[in-house]
Amino acid sequence: MTSLDDLIADSWFPFAGEITVKPLDAKVIPEPERRGVTPERCGACQRSDDTYVWTDEHWRLTGAEDTELPGIVLLETRTHHDSFTDLPADLLTDLGPMIARVESALLGLGNVARVHVNRWGDGGAHFHLWFMPRPLGMLQLRGSMLPMWLDFMPPVDAAEAQVALTQIAAAMAEQDGTAHL
Ligand SMILES: [Zn+2]
Repeated sequence: MTSLDDLIADSWFPFAGEITVKPLDAKVIPEPERRGVTPERCGACQRSDDTYVWTDEHWRLTGAEDTELPGIVLLETRTHHDSFTDLPADLLTDLGPMIARVESALLGLGNVARVHVNRWGDGGAHFHLWFMPRPLGMLQLRGSMLPMWLDFMPPVDAAEAQVALTQIAAAMAEQDGTAHL
């Protein structure tokens, strides 16, 4: 177990000063329902392709202009599945190469040291993976603290965010599928 003092001393930890660790709450069982558990109530299922960065027959890639880090995208399945265990075999087979394609598209932005690929599964119930490009030289954003840092970083200019998404769309469309930016 890492001590709080050790964490605070590490440059990648976003907090300093007098902080304390909350006690863990009692378990909540049954848990509250997650967002969009059925296609009818799922925001992703209701979205049209033209609101995405890039799409193909089975996958859709989305991003946001309102972001602290240009080039953050989410890879979603076109059809409504929750987690890995729910994906049909053909999508599971596709997933590895698709992850590599998205990583490659983000690395192609330039000045990206690493691409973090995250799967948490406690939010929306439509299958999605997060891709976060860690800027070259920003060592404090290494590893699992990057999402935490985002809460404390200023938003980037919307035009800059749009340029990154447009580059990613073009890189994805080089192989196949449709760029929507
Ligand atoms: Zn859905």
